[in-house]
Amino acid sequence: MTKRKPSIPFLDLHKINSRYHKQLKSRFSDFLDSGSYIKGDFVEEFEHTFARFCGAKYCIGVGNGLDALTLVLRGYIELGKIKAGDEVIVAANTFIATILSVKYAGLQPVLVEPNTDTFNLDIRKIEEAITDKTKVILPTYLYGQLAQMDEINIIAKKHSLLVISDSAQAHGAKGIHGTVAGNLCDASSFSFYPAKNLGAFGDAGAVTTNDEELAGVIRCLGNYGSSEKYENDYLGVNSRLDELQASFLLEKLKDLEDDNKLRRQIAKRYLSEIKNEKIQLPFWDGSENHVFHLFAVRVADRSGFCDYLEKSGIGYHIHYPIPPHHQKALKQFSNLSLPITEKIHKEVVSIPLNIALENHQIEQIIMTLNQY
Ligand SMILES: *Cc1c(COP(=O)(O)O)cnc(C)c1O
Repeated sequence: MTKRKPSIPFLDLHKINSRYHKQLKSRFSDFLDSGSYIKGDFVEEFEHTFARFCGAKYCIGVGNGLDALTLVLRGYIELGKIKAGDEVIVAANTFIATILSVKYAGLQPVLVEPNTDTFNLDIRKIEEAITDKTKVILPTYLYGQLAQMDEINIIAKKHSLLVISDSAQAHGAKGIHGTVAGNLCDASSFSFYPAKNLGAFGDAGAVTTNDEELAGVIRCLGNYGSSEKYENDYLGVNSRLDELQASFLLEKLKDLEDDNKLRRQIAKRYLSEIKNEKIQLPFWDGSENHVFHLFAVRVADRSGFCDYLEKSGIGYHIHYPIPPHHQKALKQFSNLSLPITEKIHKEVVSIPLNIALENHQIEQIIMTLNQY
């Protein structure tokens, strides 16, 4: 079957970003005039602004979200808080980058099943996965919803573990105390990949933390391990946020709160108006702990449902079709049995939820799902 172009695209980035064309052209012109391309004023301004947005003391701009996580882990290794071979607890259904970062840092990922309602790390299963080698709990805020951070921080404290969040999908999500993703644990990583809630125009990422020492090491590691030019304290890499992306992100950050609010309003409509026994809706407590980067439903006959969406002109995506432990790149986990993760990967489908959707499109999506 040839794929028809859906009448409601899953995500229309051009439309989302067209709101900014005028401001971005002016920022591009400022950037050209500045003559400064790496480690200049825009990056510094973005780091300060994003740190403040998250309520964190430090923000370090890096090349992308995968590097952000890897550099946090490597930073803790350089500080002697963890060492090669130590175990890191991650959700078994996370995006593969979370697991790759652990591998790149020379650590051992331990896959723990998620909660079927929230898709996030099941806090009841964390303690049974803890061994003498466990040093870190690394929850992902999958689809934009915070993991249960109060409970996770309590478990971590009891076992003297670090907590690092993969916040790549949850910029601006708020905990019950009003704290924001990026300030709910020891260190947090962000991606500004174009499709994220705060998306750049290319690759970009950041780390936030309140730990001054860690912030210093990460900044150094991302810059060849050097803080003084041509003096190298660590075996670093080249992973820096660039000036143009930083300047563009500053413009888009101004609207992030409103955008997230709009996403929650659309989610509220989906949750109250989609009524179909064959479609299982995600759990959300209605608070600001969710920024709905994605709206993933579950359907037993996924391929039938996807055919139906295609015929109905509604775009969709599957996040994600193959669980990490079944990926060829992660053969070491191929013998694991993770029934919840495997079932989720067979059933999830993300339907369009973004700020470019018009009201009539939202209504059409709801109607189409109700008629399935
Ligand atoms: C996007 C994403 C990443 C990786 O970010 P990049 O900027 O693409 O490297 C990591 N983790 C999660 C959960 C993501 O969604």
